[in-house]
Amino acid sequence: MKTRTTDVLILGSGGAGLFAALHAHRRAPDLKVTVAVKGLLGKCGCTRMVQGGYNVALGAGDSVERHFMDTIAGGKWLPNQELAWKLVNVAVERIHELENELGCFFDRNADGTLHQKPFAGQTFDRTVHKGDLTGIEIINRLSEQVWARGIERLEEHRALELIRSRDGQSLAGVLMMDMGSGEFVLVRARAVLLATGGGPTMYRYHTPSGDKSCDGMAMALRAGLGLRDMEMVQFHPTGLLAGSQTRMTGTVLEEGLRGAGGHLLNAEHERFMDRYDERGERATRDIVSRGIYSEMRAGRVTPNGGVYIKMDHLGPEQVRRQFKGMVERCADCGFDLAGGLVEVVPTAHYMMGGVMFDEHCGTSLTGLYAAGEDTGGVHGANRLGGNGVANSTVFGGVAGDAIAQWLAGAGRGFAEPDAESLEAAVVRYEAPLGRPADDLGAIREALYEVMWDDVGIIRSAQRLQRAQQRLEELAGRLASAGVGSRERAYNVTWHDWINLNNLIEVSRVITAAALARENSRGAHFREDFPGPGELEQSAYTRVSCADGQLRVTFEPVAFTRVRPGESLLD
Ligand SMILES: Cc1cc2nc3c(=O)[nH]c(=O)nc-3n(C[C@H](O)[C@H](O)[C@H](O)COP(=O)(O)OP(=O)(O)OC[C@H]3O[C@@H](n4cnc5c(N)ncnc54)[C@H](O)[C@@H]3O)c2cc1C
Repeated sequence: MKTRTTDVLILGSGGAGLFAALHAHRRAPDLKVTVAVKGLLGKCGCTRMVQGGYNVALGAGDSVERHFMDTIAGGKWLPNQELAWKLVNVAVERIHELENELGCFFDRNADGTLHQKPFAGQTFDRTVHKGDLTGIEIINRLSEQVWARGIERLEEHRALELIRSRDGQSLAGVLMMDMGSGEFVLVRARAVLLATGGGPTMYRYHTPSGDKSCDGMAMALRAGLGLRDMEMVQFHPTGLLAGSQTRMTGTVLEEGLRGAGGHLLNAEHERFMDRYDERGERATRDIVSRGIYSEMRAGRVTPNGGVYIKMDHLGPEQVRRQFKGMVERCADCGFDLAGGLVEVVPTAHYMMGGVMFDEHCGTSLTGLYAAGEDTGGVHGANRLGGNGVANSTVFGGVAGDAIAQWLAGAGRGFAEPDAESLEAAVVRYEAPLGRPADDLGAIREALYEVMWDDVGIIRSAQRLQRAQQRLEELAGRLASAGVGSRERAYNVTWHDWINLNNLIEVSRVITAAALARENSRGAHFREDFPGPGELEQSAYTRVSCADGQLRVTFEPVAFTRVRPGESLLD
């Protein structure tokens, strides 16, 4: 097998991966740093898709304590408080770095200060943005800086498996596939960063980019690491619903539409949100998603099976001016957002759960670091809009610094990879090439259906148990499914098999954690246990895997800075 070596291997080129590369390089310019990515650097992942913006406490009257309290309250007391504290503090440093060192231009007020807009769940307007295309600005500037330095790139290389050392005590490298040739490549590294960005694309309606299939979480699980808070999957209430024939279905219509006074109507053209929350359409994402889903379950649905958003009462001209991008997106799909009705549906947006990591981005496996949406613990039961890109850029930079520092220590050489597990992984990945083709599209459809119907917005023990059984059947079917060709170069069916394998594995983890949590917090709602449980006894789920069996345990949340009922604010 082809082998490469690098001091630092970074998996993923979103906000987390690119920041890590720049920081590791800055701290230790002599280190060989390699960014390996499933797509093209700068063109893939969700950071590029960020619309709304970046949360940071900068404004007069705001404070990191206030941002922290919003994050803890939004996360329903489940966040790891040290991680959340680091997020809000380093976000201030990071936004200056983005502007002053990396060259990002964000929108400004007339007096030259950064413009910060309101976002749901926040007690202060703290979301920095570049129009509603903030992610493109961040990723373009980060990519330019990475290209300008001696940072190696392995594009269209997907990570398949984390390979431990022969003694099992540390990470030796990563089994990857060069997607252009379909050849396996072992990349040996002294340290690896997992920054592949999660992505709940196992749900029928979802927002993340198509390259995301929970690869990092699945690899970590198979390597023996624990995943936390996996039941916490955030749904954005207003995904565009334009039928199954367009990939635009599921994409986000931004929160500002509801914020500005947009109405949600069911098929009978009645406003319904007041029945679910006194804030109506302006309630938080989880509540509005549940309201919409309840209407859908009651059968009060639009032709494509969702509800309507209506804006014309705000004045069509005003809507066209204020939401130009959204109006155009809807027009592309035949809807008139400014003057008519647009069909919408809740859409899976973000995973609050992920790999357990510490404030220096270290994990329980020596040599493996993690950052960004692959990790769990920062957001608890809910992620505030604007805290996602802050999370990936803050902890990406932290990881780059920590890796460089760690590698400067003694005895941090290359470990010998465990040949047996490497060989076993290759056999597993080659298996579908030789088998007759199965209908992977049908398996994906079945996965969408299970996750949407039984592990979605409103859950119950009965549905979750049914999902467990159906997911086991799907895993069995995929395990014996072939891809119908031995062609390796850009074999997208093969990649789809690998994507599905990871998605089904992580779906099983989400389901196990959701079944174990017998209360309702944030994004996780059990109709058989609608109460939040005792906040003082808050515990998070940890799922691990041994011999193919998932194990869920509860670990108490350490209230290291503030307890339920208390506040850091005067
Ligand atoms: C439509 C949309 C709008 C959003 N808007 C906002 C917002 O306004 N504010 C906010 O805070 N957050 C927002 N988010 C969330 C935000 O995008 C994410 O929280 C964050 O950017 C994730 O960064 P990341 O670096 O962890 O992952 P990503 O940016 O997704 O990067 C992951 C990288 O890993 C690569 N990869 C995946 N699998 C592999 C593999 N097996 N091998 C190698 N590489 C791999 C991908 O190709 C990609 O390069 C939005 C998300 C979406 C989808």
